[in-house]
Amino acid sequence: MMIYTVEQIKKRIVKLKNQGHWNCKDCGKNTFKNNKDYYVVTDKLWLKFGISKGMLCFGCFEKRLGRPLIKEDFKDCGVNQENILVKNLK
Ligand SMILES: [Zn+2]
Repeated sequence: MMIYTVEQIKKRIVKLKNQGHWNCKDCGKNTFKNNKDYYVVTDKLWLKFGISKGMLCFGCFEKRLGRPLIKEDFKDCGVNQENILVKNLK
C-alpha cells in the first residue's frame, strides 16, 4: 500500500476532476459535487454492473443493476458512512 501526503491526494483529486473522472459515465452528472452519488459497492457488483475506471451516479447504477440497492451491496468503508443514501438503507 502506498502512503500519500494530503498535498499529493489534493493534486490527484484536482487532476481527476479535470479529466471528467467524476462525471457519471451514463448521464454525465458530476458525482463529486453531490456526495449522495459517491459510494463504493462490493467488487463483485462493480465488476458485473459497473465500469472498471470511472463513476456512475446512484440512480444509474441502480438502473444497470435492475433493482434498488440494498445495504449488503455496499462495502463497509468510510466513503459509504458519509453517504446519507447508503446510511439510510435498511
Ligand atoms: Zn448517472
